[in-house]
Amino acid sequence: MAKKRILHIEDNPSNRKAVQHILRATDYKLVEAANGEEGITLALEENPDLILLDIQLPRISGYDVARRLRSEEKTRRVPIIAVTSYALSGDEETASEMGCNDYISKPYRPKVLLERIRRFLEKEPHAE
Ligand code: MN
Repeated sequence: MAKKRILHIEDNPSNRKAVQHILRATDYKLVEAANGEEGITLALEENPDLILLDIQLPRISGYDVARRLRSEEKTRRVPIIAVTSYALSGDEETASEMGCNDYISKPYRPKVLLERIRRFLEKEPHAE
């Protein structure tokens, strides 16, 4: 069975490194985008099984990325976990309104991120 693919859209290199490290011990294949435009392109081209989406991105915000992905047939149903640094700003509601399935705020514990990811990716196996 093909490895599940996770697209991480995050402009901060050290945050991308942190996720690389967390996923190293798993069987997931990581695809990375450093900004919203690249993220949208890769989401449409790489058929990710899940998207980890930083909300604080330059130019196109994570909210706009989520809204765009929800408007595209190819990415309409891909689970999106929003990641933000601001815990108490109403981001959770906004993330949900923009079509994100879940929400985690930085800093998070690696174990918690993995649990969230697995909640979406380790459900009943897809018929292929
Ligand atoms: Mn950012």
